[in-house]
Amino acid sequence: MSEVRVRIAPSPSGFLHVGTARTAIFNWLFARHNGGKFILRIEDTDEERSDSAMVEAITDSLKWLGLNWDEGPIFQSQRWDRYTHYLDRIKQSGRVYPCFCTPAELQAKREEAQKNKTDYRYDRTCLRLSPDEIKKKLDAGIPHAWRLQIPDGETRFTDLVYGEMVKQNKDLEDLIICRSDGRPIYNFAVVVDDHEMGITHVIRGNDHQTNTFKQVLIYDALGFPAPEMAHLPLIFDQRKKKISKRDKAANASDYAKEGYLPEAVVNYLAMLGWSPKDDREIMTLPELIEAFDLRGANKSNAIFDPVKMRHFNAEHIRRKTNHDLAVMVAPLLIAADISTKYGLETRWRYLMDVIGLLKDRCGLINEFVEQAACFFQPPTAYDAEGKQKHFNVETADRLDKLADVFDGLADFTHDAVEAALNNLAETLGVKAAQLIHPVRLAVTGRTKGPGLYELLVLIGRQETTARMRAAARYIRDTQAKG
Ligand code: GLU
Repeated sequence: MSEVRVRIAPSPSGFLHVGTARTAIFNWLFARHNGGKFILRIEDTDEERSDSAMVEAITDSLKWLGLNWDEGPIFQSQRWDRYTHYLDRIKQSGRVYPCFCTPAELQAKREEAQKNKTDYRYDRTCLRLSPDEIKKKLDAGIPHAWRLQIPDGETRFTDLVYGEMVKQNKDLEDLIICRSDGRPIYNFAVVVDDHEMGITHVIRGNDHQTNTFKQVLIYDALGFPAPEMAHLPLIFDQRKKKISKRDKAANASDYAKEGYLPEAVVNYLAMLGWSPKDDREIMTLPELIEAFDLRGANKSNAIFDPVKMRHFNAEHIRRKTNHDLAVMVAPLLIAADISTKYGLETRWRYLMDVIGLLKDRCGLINEFVEQAACFFQPPTAYDAEGKQKHFNVETADRLDKLADVFDGLADFTHDAVEAALNNLAETLGVKAAQLIHPVRLAVTGRTKGPGLYELLVLIGRQETTARMRAAARYIRDTQAKG
């Protein structure tokens, strides 16, 4: 096989949509698996709907996902001369004809068809013009579009995912390939670009299947072989609706802000419409590249499940080193005023240990912030429900007593702390849980978290006992006021 060349061709009319991100991932994995090239093309021929700020947003998202491109970005808006060149070529083939019908005339015919409840298809008024009539109109400078004349018969292509595809040409109308203002129509520009860019495989969402038939006909008129075609099942939300731009999951650019890891997003989206045909689900980038094959693409539509994506993220968080996670969490702790740049740089090992303790409990990077706060600051408040349950005059005394015991320990280690707490519980005739819960609340302000003894040891003896005594004081103060 010659070198594989694939592309992603987003239109800059919005942020990188999850469907486009998934298409980009499939193309990128296909290129990397085959040692080929992944090319970025910006489809900005529709000026009203294109926004240059979106180009940057889209490229930023692709970069964040790690989908590096080998060529481009190529902008369609800078290639008008190429489309004109190929329009001239297709004119010579005799397969196109000028259409002088005005938008108003076409609209009237469309409305008429609607009224009669028949399908509208261009009625070929201009195909019936004689060469003389055409010449006269052209010479008079009457505005005209160019239409491709659809031949009789049928159009076929082999879809690498869906198999043999056939359409009866009578179901297609003579499509405009170039507007009267000279701008190419999407289907024509795509064919010209894919041809000039040497694209070997077009891999895209199956909402483009109808376009593919038209594009195959344009290739044919130009006398170029069409690339291999592969369509991917669409992505639906859990109500089986297409994911719209307003949905929370719709924009890949939001995933970073929400605390997703790019490798987790790539992994999850790769599984929407593909599987390695074994029972693996959580895969690293190199594993995905190694396993990726279009034969693993599914035909049935995929369902985007936010809970599952979070699970993928949690698994990828678990696989990251504490250092790498610390690099991501540190700026968030600084932004949340939980620590300072200096504070974290000088206590990097401590930060890594904190991360290590929390990493099985966080599904999103952002969740580290809330859970890590107590390792850097005493609690500013105690969980309300926890207070009701675990704070009373008796616990205040127990917290003081346990703080004294902790102060007297030779070593403040996991086992020593555990034994000391169990001993005191026995002496006081209470269950260990009756100490464990108030201590956690006193030290962290929360009722849940990682293993208590590891947590206390990490926070350190001095800070732990100070917080326990502060909680005891707080309990007595509030009781006295109440
Ligand atoms: N610009 C098209 C889109 O955003 C992609 C066209 C193609 O892949 O051929 O859906």
